[in-house]
Amino acid sequence: MSLQSAIEWTDATWNPVRGCTKISPGCKFCYAERFAERFRGVPGHPFEQGFDLRLVPEKLADPLRWQTPKMIFVNSMSDLFHEGVPDEYIEAIARVMVQANWHTFQILTKRSVRMRDLLKSKLEFAAKQRNIWWGVSVEDKQYGVPRISHLRQSGAIVKFLSVEPLLEDLGTINLNQISWMIVGGESGPGARPIDARWVRSLRKQCRNSGVKFFFKQWGGVRKHLTGRMLDGRTYDEFPERAFEPVPDGTRRVRLVSAVQQLSNQFVPVAVLTGD
Ligand code: SF4
Repeated sequence: MSLQSAIEWTDATWNPVRGCTKISPGCKFCYAERFAERFRGVPGHPFEQGFDLRLVPEKLADPLRWQTPKMIFVNSMSDLFHEGVPDEYIEAIARVMVQANWHTFQILTKRSVRMRDLLKSKLEFAAKQRNIWWGVSVEDKQYGVPRISHLRQSGAIVKFLSVEPLLEDLGTINLNQISWMIVGGESGPGARPIDARWVRSLRKQCRNSGVKFFFKQWGGVRKHLTGRMLDGRTYDEFPERAFEPVPDGTRRVRLVSAVQQLSNQFVPVAVLTGD
């Protein structure tokens, strides 16, 4: 777990899975891939295997060790619902999030069909938790917008959209039941341009629908130059958080120990994806 994150809308990251494969246009300049591949072949580095998908069971218990309540972005370096991650492993992650209910967890996926199907079956217990926010990436109309319907069908209590990188005007979208929208432009080499009119349209739709709005960045090749002001101000809204009491040290040690035993059944090797 990284105790501090540079991502504007979270406090920390937790990566019990590493690596992924591309699935839609939003993945073209995946920051996680760029980062991970820099360390391929470096002995002992967490990304020695580059961006190959792998389970990291020794990370499973981390949030239970962390006493101070945080917003935690789950799998910032992967996609929890990647087809190569076994159901049982996703369920183990979800059980940790339910137990560590003094934190707020943010899960973001492009595999929205699998997320929906699991939240309606094996993960139903986690769909109803106020401390777990379930989200989908929405980069365009063709691939991104249909994910919003899947999210709505999931039965999750807190649902959010990450509209980043915003690649085109999304037009009018159905925000029924959505609690939160993050919007941002692409950043880094080759970044595809964003148009302020697309962002204003989404801000207006959020206002009209009572959806909390977070404007992350304009992006571009040098994102520190373009910043994150929209019409003279920043937008840093969040859904309301559920604050549960932090258990005492003895209870947390017991919880960690139980998860450590469970984690032994998972093998920390690269998952064959068939790609
Ligand atoms: S789904 Fe996310 S982590 Fe996976 S390749 Fe695409 S952008 Fe990267």
